[in-house]
Amino acid sequence: SLFGLPEQAAHERVLLATDPATGLKAILAVHSTARGPAFGGCRLWHYESEAAALNDALRLSQGMSLKNALADLPFGGGKAVILKPEGAFDRPALFAAFGRAVQSLNGAYITAEDVGTTTADMRGMQAVTPYVSGIPREGAFGGDPSPKTAWGVFVSIQAGARLVLGRSSLDGVRVALQGLGAVGWHLAEFLHQAGAKLVVADVDAAKVERAVAQFGATAVSVADILAVDVDVLAPCALGASLNEQTVPTLRAKLIAGAANNQLATPADGDALQRRGICYLPDYLVNAGGIISVAREYRNEGEEKAVMAEVSKIAERVEELLQRVQAADSTPARVADDWARSKLVRLA
Ligand code: NAD
Repeated sequence: SLFGLPEQAAHERVLLATDPATGLKAILAVHSTARGPAFGGCRLWHYESEAAALNDALRLSQGMSLKNALADLPFGGGKAVILKPEGAFDRPALFAAFGRAVQSLNGAYITAEDVGTTTADMRGMQAVTPYVSGIPREGAFGGDPSPKTAWGVFVSIQAGARLVLGRSSLDGVRVALQGLGAVGWHLAEFLHQAGAKLVVADVDAAKVERAVAQFGATAVSVADILAVDVDVLAPCALGASLNEQTVPTLRAKLIAGAANNQLATPADGDALQRRGICYLPDYLVNAGGIISVAREYRNEGEEKAVMAEVSKIAERVEELLQRVQAADSTPARVADDWARSKLVRLA
């Protein structure tokens, strides 16, 4: 039912945008503007069905509300998905049409890049809307958020390794990386520099080969990566990788990665806890990118200040683990309650 979502998933508005001239079919989901305009990336993806696209947009935008709230950003949560046109298409024209849809919301939603979209797509949209961020600027920080996302995940793994695994450094810690894309690759660099031992998988064999050559990583198949014998698992591909089938097979003791919506269902978070696996919620650890594009959008600070703000994610990981102990609950449920308590209008 379109209007029958549980209260916490109910959206303020959802726009279905079409433009036959360019082939645009997009869903712009505004979950909450309680804290400020809804801020979240735009995904270009081939979906199996329109229902799957809608489900993705709604789940992702709700996640952005929680992410932005936990990161103390003065923004609400929103997300957009563009259904990838079949065959060849005029990319600048498609994004101009999408930009007009963003503009039609008059600032209730601010967009940025996500899976399948690029900084060039964002730059192109500037001609039709100011409600876009993540654009490289001469002499100022900004642009691609993925290194900042990777840094946030990295400091979370450091904090988790210390607090959960009792490891004071990542030297020799074994980390499995699912996905070596924009975030996964930067994360691999940070982890390698810190002395971690990497096990990697990606559907793109060239990326795996590069990781083997550059980081001395061990390559495994995409079918095997989740269940390899490691200390830490970092899902950095797509969502729902932690599900009924995979959770019983996991061998890592700590999970922290960039992918959004890693848990297929809340019950999978409970199952992880029962197995003694500590799952650091995705929207807590992967907020580095939104912190970066939000600062860029507000024209605040520079590179060092952004990195310092992203590093604070480690403090939140520590606070979360303390709250989990006090509440005798799971990290996913405690983070959810914590974030929802912050979905309030800011003074
Ligand atoms: P990306 O598209 O650059 O990278 C994804 C990588 O995963 C690709 O290399 C792809 O080949 C690989 N992949 C796909 N399916 C796979 C599978 N089954 N097994 C192994 N590898 C697989 O995307 P990204 O920007 O690196 O984002 C990765 C994830 O992090 C996404 O879920 C995204 O929503 C999330 N995220 C990204 C950012 C950011 O700043 N880019 C911020 C927050 C969250």
